[in-house]
Amino acid sequence: MKVSQIPYKRIDKDDAERRINEAVALAKNAVSVDELLASREHINKLVDEFSTMFSLANMRFTLNTKDEFYQAERAYYDEITPIIGVKSLEFKKAFLGSPFLDDAKKQLNPLVIKMFEIELKTADERIVADLQEENRLTMQYVKFVSELLFDFKGEKITLGALKKHMTDSDRQVRKAAYNVLGATLQENSNFLDDIFDKMVKVRDTMAKKMGFENFIEMGYYRMSRTAFDENTIKTFRKNVKEQLVPVIAKLKNEIKERLGIDELKLYDNETYFENDPTPILDAQGILAAGQEMYRDMSKETGDFMDMMMQNDAFDVLPREGKWTGGYCTAFPLYNQPFIFANFNGTTADVDVITHEAGHAFAFYAHSPYQLTELEIGGMETAETHSMSMEFLCWKYMDKFFGERAKDYCYKHLFDSITFIPYGVIVDLFQHIIYENPQMTPKERKDVWLALEKEYRPHMNAQNITYLEEGTRWQYQNHIFELPFYYIDYCLAQSVALQVLMLSQKDYSKAFSTYLEHTKRGGLYDFNTLVKMMELKSPFEEGALEEVARGVEELLAKLAKE
Ligand code: ZN
Repeated sequence: MKVSQIPYKRIDKDDAERRINEAVALAKNAVSVDELLASREHINKLVDEFSTMFSLANMRFTLNTKDEFYQAERAYYDEITPIIGVKSLEFKKAFLGSPFLDDAKKQLNPLVIKMFEIELKTADERIVADLQEENRLTMQYVKFVSELLFDFKGEKITLGALKKHMTDSDRQVRKAAYNVLGATLQENSNFLDDIFDKMVKVRDTMAKKMGFENFIEMGYYRMSRTAFDENTIKTFRKNVKEQLVPVIAKLKNEIKERLGIDELKLYDNETYFENDPTPILDAQGILAAGQEMYRDMSKETGDFMDMMMQNDAFDVLPREGKWTGGYCTAFPLYNQPFIFANFNGTTADVDVITHEAGHAFAFYAHSPYQLTELEIGGMETAETHSMSMEFLCWKYMDKFFGERAKDYCYKHLFDSITFIPYGVIVDLFQHIIYENPQMTPKERKDVWLALEKEYRPHMNAQNITYLEEGTRWQYQNHIFELPFYYIDYCLAQSVALQVLMLSQKDYSKAFSTYLEHTKRGGLYDFNTLVKMMELKSPFEEGALEEVARGVEELLAKLAKE
């Protein structure tokens, strides 16, 4: 079935509640372990239906944020999701309270039980109204950003379109684009400061009602984290600061010399060449080349990509009113992933066919397991699927970039390593913000500036309108929409870079390691999965030393070729 033909049917709140009540009764009245396990099947059917319909509504809303029908559906789910979520906790309580729990534990993956316990810590009736308020604020931010227009050289364009100019090979164009970005955000700074303040306060209130000191621990639980906590992240941060930051600063200085730039600015962060490599194909060509690539890579990836193309599971061209980001989602009832993007003629277009398709492949590869609660693992695991796939696609880059394939790889690798300290800034910023929810907008901006100095000492935002005040985070949508998500990218990148190093030595071993890892989905926690791949956990002391050395060598090799 084509994705556009998947029928949408609103999940009725009363009906969902009735089915949850049934599952609760089944769990409470179970007279055997089999009956207890059956109660879980009963509720999982609802979960699959709910996530399919919610994902459909959300996808169709992001395709056209002006579509009033799906706008209303999204708003409907924002209202009922917290209610249904809290209601479903009754089932988890009943399940955990069953006299057959110990027997059930012998048959279930222990992570399922752990997830139940974690969920009970993050929500209950007392915070339903706060969760609804949080959803409303998030929607407001999403709508605001997707409708925001930037006046660039006499043309009104979206943020997605502006981003292309922000990475233009011509430094003056980049600079102008960043200034337009800053000026437009500045015009809306009251709105941005205000909505973020409301989000911080409502999250803090919820956390306190749930018995936490502040939102941090609750935020971790909401990310379903089972393998690490705030302290483990501290070790990772230390690894980044000591092992990566100095190497990156040194490499960046070499680029600066080569490009003849006196001082690296925020707008130089993604520039490595006089002329950036760009795809030699248009959107159709990129999708077709992607299909060839995945067919050549393996039978599994080929079948996957054929299915995606056949079902029109891509929407990649930008339009006004279309949400600006990129994502991969899935409709569990149909075992169907879907990829959303905004192609703009830059290398980012190819990342869609490697990164987002990596997510989609992971969903497809594990779907026979029908895991429901575990699906593809925590987000840090899900991102290892996609980021590793990006690197495993390297050997096909001549299809997309012709003679400049090596330059693309160089840029990709450099972007990947420099991303990690940036991600740490985003993450640590949120820790500080939620630890100090009373901070003023000015204080928050100062925190950002200080973190930039610490983790990206080789560049600055001075003399860029508004952004020089420490406001880069105001268009980093994760900070608003998905608190504490961002570090997952950094953890995953630390693993993906090791997959790259392995693939340089032995591609087929790297690919089979990856394939097995992907098929495991979320059956194990992040640390265990990394161990099973025989790679280093980013939480070990000194874990990034080898990565830093490997990247430096590989960059030197790519520059020479
Ligand atoms: Zn991703």
